[in-house]
Amino acid sequence: MIDTHTHLYLPDYGEDKCAAVDRALSSGVTMMVLPGVDADSIAPIRELHSLRPEATAMCAGLHPTEIHPENWRSHFEKIESELRSHPDEYVAIGEMGLDLYWDQSTLKMQFEAAEAQLDLADKLNLPVVIHCREAMSQMLDLMQARAGQLPNMVFHCYSGTGDDISRLRRLLPDVKFGIGGVVTFKKSRLPELLPIIGINHILLETDAPWLAPVPMRGKQNESAYIPYIAARIASELNLPIEQVDEITTASAREFFRM
Ligand SMILES: [Zn+2]
Repeated sequence: MIDTHTHLYLPDYGEDKCAAVDRALSSGVTMMVLPGVDADSIAPIRELHSLRPEATAMCAGLHPTEIHPENWRSHFEKIESELRSHPDEYVAIGEMGLDLYWDQSTLKMQFEAAEAQLDLADKLNLPVVIHCREAMSQMLDLMQARAGQLPNMVFHCYSGTGDDISRLRRLLPDVKFGIGGVVTFKKSRLPELLPIIGINHILLETDAPWLAPVPMRGKQNESAYIPYIAARIASELNLPIEQVDEITTASAREFFRM
């Protein structure tokens, strides 16, 4: 099993930087993809990756809620220079995207940052990890303007509707959907969307330290909890968990080319 979206490099995981990675390895997770949120993510992601190179993969990107008028450009420039200097060491650009839930006042800058990161993905031939919260129509507009030259994309922690899935597929037929702990929550609409998405387009993720799945809900999330998410997807889709593991692992390896 692969956790395609986990922030195990954050200080939340304590002094022993590898402990959470090692617990995940013990629970059957073979690989963890580490998305960045700003330029300050680069060093801790590099450090964790250097300690567990076989079990982790690096991304760099500027998250829409980390876009502040006074410094987003300098963060972007550092991220760009890191990616341009070591493109082969990175598996994706992200996380990046649009977020109108937390702060609508930065939308224009969010667009600029998203455009710049999509340009970079195009130049460096890297896939992108999308964070999109309450901004699907704006994201679709942005994608429409680049139709035909979009990089591969995963919508991490997918929170759109079934109609949004069709709209996304018209623009990017092989778009992937990151499914995490939310699928185990009582009021989640995600279980209804799983058959529409289909097992071949699902990537497993925790988004640790946030959004721990049931029965760990409320605790600090970590990649070791991926099996709870895989089990819930398996039961919703009437598939053996081994098949969910096999297919989502192959999809993640193909998407991130690892
Ligand atoms: Zn994240």
